[in-house]
Amino acid sequence: MKRDNSTPIYVTQPLLPDLQDFIPYLESIWQNKILTNGGPFHQQLEQALCDYLGVKHICLFANGTLALITALQALRITGEVITTPYSFVATAHSLLWNGIKPVFADIDPQTFNLDPERVEAAITPQTTAILPVHCYGRPCNVERIQKIADNYGLKVIYDAAHAFGVRHQGGSVLNYGDLSVLSFHATKVFNTFEGGAIICPDAKTKQRIDHLKNFGFVDEVTVVAPGINGKMSEINAAFGLLQLQHVDKALQQRQAIDARYRANLAGIKGIRCISPGLESGANHAYFPILVEPEFPLSRDELYQHLRENNIFSRRYFHPLISDFPMYRGMPSSAHANLPVARTAAEQVICLPLYPTLDNAQIELITDTIAASAKVSATR
Ligand SMILES: *Cc1c(COP(=O)(O)O)cnc(C)c1O
Repeated sequence: MKRDNSTPIYVTQPLLPDLQDFIPYLESIWQNKILTNGGPFHQQLEQALCDYLGVKHICLFANGTLALITALQALRITGEVITTPYSFVATAHSLLWNGIKPVFADIDPQTFNLDPERVEAAITPQTTAILPVHCYGRPCNVERIQKIADNYGLKVIYDAAHAFGVRHQGGSVLNYGDLSVLSFHATKVFNTFEGGAIICPDAKTKQRIDHLKNFGFVDEVTVVAPGINGKMSEINAAFGLLQLQHVDKALQQRQAIDARYRANLAGIKGIRCISPGLESGANHAYFPILVEPEFPLSRDELYQHLRENNIFSRRYFHPLISDFPMYRGMPSSAHANLPVARTAAEQVICLPLYPTLDNAQIELITDTIAASAKVSATR
């Protein structure tokens, strides 16, 4: 196969169906003139996602961040919430938007998810909930986290933005905890351009969330809470229905790319792939590698070297959330509290991974990594 490094390879490329296939959905919207507020496509997508994911109830949102903020409101979370510094910044921002104090706990070096021991150690009388992230789509230790939550009377809200379609113990990982929050942003495994959702176990909670995402309106004249406008539009919902037809194929393609990366990188000293985890239940949302000290280049040197070769990887999650100005003064943000997260943030690179990434491109990426080690050795 011809290798061509003149066209840039970005860390992701959004899944997009044929434009022609979307036109009938648009025609339908133009015909019925229902643009939002829980229209027919919104209803269909909620049902289709419940069926596809294997969950009881889902509330669609305009994006994942509004869903996170609303999830915390729905359960009336206050005080302190224990969360991970190793995530996208929206995880902790959702707490600040609710006037809640984030308390960062360190992660597990194998899974990059919150370490349950460290969660337990961070609990105070003010703690009301745990906000873990299924980082890179790998399930948290959901059993241990639930046990801790039960022992201390805490709620658990999962930021499951990476975990679309992920399964655990034969069911959806989204069924753990009190609520789980998805993102359907363009960069995620399943996208609706922008979008998000809350998964909830019972109809009563769904109703509360549906009120909260619509200004608190219950009917034309009754407002029961200071809600927000978090609604997903009909265009996004229609697009989601179309996307859903292609997501299984996309997941298969991701799995094949993941396997090829692992095979190609296996011999390179100092490059460590994170353990595949639960093979059958994974969604291969990201392909993180660790650039360890034995590798001749530092993580940032390798990142730059890839850029110079038109390969745009990302250092997810560097910097840690706890290093951003609005968090770094907090006691739990101290470096000594987060050694594992810090090392991960210093070593990780997420390689390009999206369904249409072809074998020639994968070879180009892994050959460039292998060659960078040799070039630097002879410098
Ligand atoms: C993408 C993401 C979000 C935010 O979702 P949006 O839909 O972009 O608002 C939150 N948390 C994590 C871990 C994410 O990756």
